[in-house]
Amino acid sequence: MVIVMKSGHTQEDLEAVIARVEKLGLRPHVIRGEFRSVIGCVGDERGKTALQALESLDAVESVLPILQPFKLASREVKGTKTVVQVGDLAIGGERIVVMAGPCSVESEEQILATAAVVREAGATVLRGGAFKPRTSPYAFQGLEEEGLKLLARAREATGLKIVTEVVKPEDVDLVADYADILQVGARNNQNFALLKRCGEVKKPILFKRGMATTIKEYLQAAEYILAEGNYDVILCERGIRTFETATRFTLDLNAVPVLNDLTHLPVIVDPAHGTGHWKYVTAMSKAAIAAGADGLILEVHPKPEEALSDGVQSLKPKVFAELMKAIKPVAMAVGRTL
Ligand code: PEP
Ligand code: MN
Repeated sequence: MVIVMKSGHTQEDLEAVIARVEKLGLRPHVIRGEFRSVIGCVGDERGKTALQALESLDAVESVLPILQPFKLASREVKGTKTVVQVGDLAIGGERIVVMAGPCSVESEEQILATAAVVREAGATVLRGGAFKPRTSPYAFQGLEEEGLKLLARAREATGLKIVTEVVKPEDVDLVADYADILQVGARNNQNFALLKRCGEVKKPILFKRGMATTIKEYLQAAEYILAEGNYDVILCERGIRTFETATRFTLDLNAVPVLNDLTHLPVIVDPAHGTGHWKYVTAMSKAAIAAGADGLILEVHPKPEEALSDGVQSLKPKVFAELMKAIKPVAMAVGRTL
């Protein structure tokens, strides 16, 4: 349910309504809009009828049901787009945000060299996995905390923000100590214990779609993070499993306009994992921006042929710089900047 407050209500009015909601055993989430505030009330559906009665309060304009199963993520609760602020960087605003870097952090030399080239070409966020969820237990699993330290060093050297993956609930605080944005990967899309922990930290979450989750399931999974009070969630389409084998996954660009319709959360696209081959990344990056994405996450490696993970889909620095030039006119054509 969502409680729409009358315009011109006082802070005391708001607090009084919040107290009533809590008394009914529901969790209130205050969303301040441009013109009025609303309170998204989530929890046991049985509190619904009693909540409806709050419509009789002077400061309350109406109490409405939220029809979508994803409540706080839905446009029904918040019509205006969410802009996730990462320090001075806005994700979901007019400017397209490009996150780039290696699949895995491999060494100081590798991450510092990559950070320098992606920054030079115009990226504002450095990616790099320190904890890697690999399909095989025998594949490189990441440098763990040492990798986080190297990322922090690259941030110091370049001023880039850092996004890196967390795979276990017990590592969330450690990763949050180093990262500017925590990534939750496709394989953990429905790891609800991890999502709840990510809801408790005060860092934005880059939440990737699962390779076999529908858009509705995806948004309900995102709801786990929002329901714990972390509203800074960035969604990411990264390809789904289909019958097609010519590419690693099928990048579902339908998801971009559909998500923009259903949710206020920013949406970025990962054409590296979505296609699985560097040759296709530039075309799908342009397509993603044309479709309405707020940004891209790309894999870049100084020597892709030596990469410890995802070398085939990683761009050489020169190709990345060309990509950045190629997406600019597309961004401008859809009213965005880069
Ligand atoms: C990654 O970003 O390197 C990664 C493992 O991505 P995904 O979770 O989308 O497979
Ligand atoms: Mn990867």
